[in-house]
Amino acid sequence: MRKYTKIEDNQLLEVRCNQCGRLLQTENGMLKEGCFHGENVFGYFSTKDGTRHSFDLCETCYDSLISKFEIPVEESEANEYL
Ligand SMILES: [Zn+2]
Repeated sequence: MRKYTKIEDNQLLEVRCNQCGRLLQTENGMLKEGCFHGENVFGYFSTKDGTRHSFDLCETCYDSLISKFEIPVEESEANEYL
């Protein structure tokens, strides 16, 4: 869950992990630790037609989630990161 300022170009104020509720470390509008941000708009054939879902997970909760996957996440080296 992300909160932004209404002023100063929509600067990031805080990020909370949706799973555990922990406040993640931010500094001057920058996230200073690992975080998974998920976002999806459900389409016509979904029961959530036209609804947008978004959430953030701290790295611990993300690792816990993916450890339950039957098929592991695909992993590759990123050329650039945010
Ligand atoms: Zn968490």
